[in-house]
Amino acid sequence: MPELPEVEALALDLRGRLTDRAIVKVHVAAFSALKTFDPPLSALEGTLVEDVTRHGKFLDIRTSAGLHLVLHLARAGWVRWRDEVPTTPPKPSNKSPLAVRVVLDPPDGSEAPSGLDITEAGTKKSLAMYVVRSPGDVPGIASLGPDPLVDDFTPERLREILTREGRKQLKGVLRHQGTIAGIGNAYSDELLHAARMSPYKPANSLTDDELATLYDAIRTVLGDAVARSRGLAASELKGEKKSHLAVHGQTGKPCPVCGDTVREVSFADSSLQYCPTCQTGGKPLADRRMSRLLK
Ligand SMILES: [Zn+2]
Repeated sequence: MPELPEVEALALDLRGRLTDRAIVKVHVAAFSALKTFDPPLSALEGTLVEDVTRHGKFLDIRTSAGLHLVLHLARAGWVRWRDEVPTTPPKPSNKSPLAVRVVLDPPDGSEAPSGLDITEAGTKKSLAMYVVRSPGDVPGIASLGPDPLVDDFTPERLREILTREGRKQLKGVLRHQGTIAGIGNAYSDELLHAARMSPYKPANSLTDDELATLYDAIRTVLGDAVARSRGLAASELKGEKKSHLAVHGQTGKPCPVCGDTVREVSFADSSLQYCPTCQTGGKPLADRRMSRLLK
């Protein structure tokens, strides 16, 4: 799933490609992806793209009609730039990952239109697309917590958030979009590893030193990932993310810091990875879901 750094890089890449280009047509191949009906999708046709930005993990394509095409790529969604796209509408198909195609005016001197394919792999469809007059009209954006990379996300702000969350586990607090925007399953694993903290640590239990450590980990892990991703094309981002993960998705491999074996436990609707030596005093975490099932 693309998280803050990848969506930031996607926004930057698409800003360069889409700005000042006219949207000719938006074809929807997977109708379940479109979550709004007013304004209609056709209202985007003939408008110019003015900017592409990010809100948490949402991509926001702003156009000249005062409209926004907002995308949430969810677990398996992705955006592919195409120098040439077919002009005929794509046929809805269960086999094709294509969900939406945005056809742009051909660039000067070219016959073929270029465009954007928004795809979703797998059978569980959760890609979401919205056409709105203001990004705040998207419920998931209206309820976003603060962005962890903006200037006013200070250690004091983080302290307030963690205090408010009480005894909730850090892992869940960090990846909840209404609490802090943009951090998902992968980067919450990574920044807890960088901070050498247990994913189960209660949010309100941090000492001042631990708070400073966690704050630095959030800014450094996300900031470094954004810096590495900047300037990469959409097609290069997934590989770049994978190659720098220390613990997320690395179950059974050695921790790059201490060499201990990276472990996994189930957490909420998925699983988390961590290093026992770096994060939990050498003790493996109990898999609470498994142990409950076994009782
Ligand atoms: Zn380790």
